[in-house]
Amino acid sequence: MNKTLFIKTYGCQMNVYDSARMADVLAPLGYRPVDSPQGADMVILNTCHIREKAAEKVFSELGRLKRFQREKASSGGRMLIGVAGCVGQAEGSEILRRAPQVDLVLGPQTYHRLPELVARVLRSGSRAGLLDTEFPVESKFDHLPEEAAPRGPAAFLSVQEGCDKFCTFCVVPYTRGAEFSRPVAEVVAEAERLVAAGTAEITLVGQNVNAYHGAAPDGASWGLGRLLCRLAQIDGLERLRYTTSHPRDMDDELIAAHGELDKLMPYLHLPLQSGADPVLNAMNRRHTADDYRRIVERLRAARPDLALSSDFIVGFPGETDRDFAETLRLVAEIGFAQAYCFKYSPRPGTPAAVSAGQVPEAVKADRLAALQSLLSAQQLAFNRGCEGRTMSVLLERTGRRSGQLVGRSPYMQAVHVAAPRRLLGRIAAVRMDRGLANSLAGTILGELPGTSSSGSCPADREAVA
Ligand code: SAM
Ligand code: SF4
Repeated sequence: MNKTLFIKTYGCQMNVYDSARMADVLAPLGYRPVDSPQGADMVILNTCHIREKAAEKVFSELGRLKRFQREKASSGGRMLIGVAGCVGQAEGSEILRRAPQVDLVLGPQTYHRLPELVARVLRSGSRAGLLDTEFPVESKFDHLPEEAAPRGPAAFLSVQEGCDKFCTFCVVPYTRGAEFSRPVAEVVAEAERLVAAGTAEITLVGQNVNAYHGAAPDGASWGLGRLLCRLAQIDGLERLRYTTSHPRDMDDELIAAHGELDKLMPYLHLPLQSGADPVLNAMNRRHTADDYRRIVERLRAARPDLALSSDFIVGFPGETDRDFAETLRLVAEIGFAQAYCFKYSPRPGTPAAVSAGQVPEAVKADRLAALQSLLSAQQLAFNRGCEGRTMSVLLERTGRRSGQLVGRSPYMQAVHVAAPRRLLGRIAAVRMDRGLANSLAGTILGELPGTSSSGSCPADREAVA
């Protein structure tokens, strides 16, 4: 481990997972992760293309990196700069043209080839950057080594990639490629390794994670509900989550899992995007506002304390004041514990970018402010409603104040407590004292014992009966 590697991650949880995997791939070459790009032997920007702003950030960061690259060269070293992720996939040639300091560009499906790419860059005398943005026939997962380092108390595990839904605003089907699910045995093995290395909470990630349909050892294709049930049987794994889901793929088995699996946390991110049917239709979301209402009703029937989070886009082409009022009405009716809202950002190559009825920026800004204010009020009310309750909190990291630890409640709220460092990575019972806008402050009541594995899955029980 004599070379240093700095990876900067933008965007979604898939990218967080991919960055950790890139570090795994580069570890056998002697690269050790560091916290700063200054002086590093390799810097990788793992990028996001979902909105224009996210993509722009890459070019300004590449500008900043030029100085570090020059400093490294003047001390006789060489800093390799790589661009990975969805901007690499979508704008690879443009990056090499505009940013000659970049040595290699790769897409989300080719990072298992990093060692080969690095070797080619180092061998070739020329400074011309190399590009690998194919969608290879082989799956990257077949070529990734085991984790080089423990992932900590809470970890992401990618089970599904790509998307076939083609929402008219979204670049993902073009940058991540077609939908693909990892086989069950591979996911279980990775989860077991994470738990053996100290992880207590696993979040299954995928662009459309609940479209999961992985090949199982019994020859069947398992949906996400069945997979969660299998993972809940792993001793030492205390908590399970999954993200991001599409309302269309909330099937019966998955909804039932929310009622049956104690380890599945009572919090679900279920993007709605808009509360108006004409907009949902123009977005090609393939569900109505009423469909969403019904899914939420069924989820709450299965798990009454389920808290919901969501994504919204305001100012989608053709969105009228009336459509937007429908979104506000549905948000008020459902009640979200947390949510993200975005101004619609036209993305090159997507149908909505060239559709009529583009909404002026000022209107988007007004709608964003109105929706954000409603969602913030709901979040604060939810957090305040937790005051006085005792909840289990997984203590994940140290806080800014000395003697402070920060963890997550079952509802994904950040919880600040005064606690000894020895409790890092443990689950504690915490009394919630104060609910704030984005977090809670609590008091530790004691450490909680680990739960045992969660019995058998309903489908296995049926088979025995
Ligand atoms: N697969 C998820 C789903 O179906 O809802 C969404 C994944 S996407 C990576 C995350 C969020 O980014 C979306 O839910 C959407 O709200 C937002 N988003 C995607 N494209 C966008 C665009 N062109 N402009 C603004 N927001 C966008
Ligand atoms: Fe993008 Fe999600 Fe739609 Fe797929 S389902 S196109 S990832 S928004």
